[in-house]
Amino acid sequence: MECPNCHKNASKVIDSRPSDENRAIRRRRECENCGFRFTTFERVETTPLLVIKNDGTREPFNRKKILRGVMAAGQKRPISSSQFEELVDHVENKIRQEGVSEISSKKIGQLVMDELAKIDDVAYIRFASIYREFKDMSSFMKTMEDMIARREKGN
Ligand SMILES: [Zn+2]
Repeated sequence: MECPNCHKNASKVIDSRPSDENRAIRRRRECENCGFRFTTFERVETTPLLVIKNDGTREPFNRKKILRGVMAAGQKRPISSSQFEELVDHVENKIRQEGVSEISSKKIGQLVMDELAKIDDVAYIRFASIYREFKDMSSFMKTMEDMIARREKGN
């Protein structure tokens, strides 16, 4: 790493620690030529993720939006804010693991529902009703059947 002071490429790392909630590494460096100290940050490069909305338009992936949605669905339910955060982490990780650059909002809704179902039935049904909009009775019944099947499986 080139020294910002003397521009010699002779720096050494004197300290290294996680930063930005472990998303980055902060390194303190010292130039072996002039002794100047400076800081560098190393972070994971994440490709921007786009969400395809129902009308076909795209918008950037927004984890806060998902968090707001699940918190609305889980209102007055015994779910802690860290559980909500973890849920959104799981969903985001699943999407990132697929390595896609675009994902439909429908698919995200499905991933969220899968996670919510593990936590709270009421929140799950509320969320499902928003995402599937319950256009007909059969989709509502399908949601109920899924829930009962999940319960019988013991999760
Ligand atoms: Zn230097």
